Amino acid sequence: MKIRTVEFIKSAVKPAQYPEYDFPEIAFAGRSNVGKSSLINTLINRKDMVKTSSRPGCTQLINFFLINGDVPQRELSMVDLPGYGYAKVSKKIRAQWQPMVETYVGTRNNLLGLILLMDIRRDPGKEELDMVRWLESKRMPCLLVLTKADKLSKTKQLKQLDAACTAFNRERNGIVLFSAKTRQGRQTIWDEIHSLIDW
Ligand code: GDP
Repeated sequence: MKIRTVEFIKSAVKPAQYPEYDFPEIAFAGRSNVGKSSLINTLINRKDMVKTSSRPGCTQLINFFLINGDVPQRELSMVDLPGYGYAKVSKKIRAQWQPMVETYVGTRNNLLGLILLMDIRRDPGKEELDMVRWLESKRMPCLLVLTKADKLSKTKQLKQLDAACTAFNRERNGIVLFSAKTRQGRQTIWDEIHSLIDW
């Protein structure tokens, strides 16, 4: 996809604050520090459009970005969901995360799919397994991405891929290996986004 412009539109906590547009929308979720900002920046070819998400103690926000806002029929909204599971985040903030994300997924009509990121070096946790199960129950497409693939050898990458396939009951081509450092997997993620937005 040709990326002409990328604009930060706004941050929101609740539906009344979401942008009113209904362009195709894709959201990104994952544990704090998983490499979400790096992945989005790699996809859109920007160095630091998306800033490292959750600093402990900060209010967690849903951030909306608009790609190609000036190209009719080629607009795409990307949503950076707050990171979860940051050990230092207070219980209160953690308790806000789930309803905020569930409300977003449940009410956002132009949301076409979610991309869930997991660090390739960690085994999938309960949060990820629960989230995927919940998305499946809502019939919301969910692409799984293992980030920071460059941190492991090719053999270990495949071992982790197979472990994730077993955990999520998916085929190898249902989970993407990604590295912001080498850009491995970037095109596959774009291909998946294209198939979701049907261009
Ligand atoms: P976020 O909190 O999920 O938005 O994570 P960031 O994108 O800010 O990344 C967290 C840390 O992981 C930073 O120090 C990044 O430089 C590093 N990182 C992110 N992606 C990669 C990657 O693909 N490879 C390597 N080696 N490091 C990465």
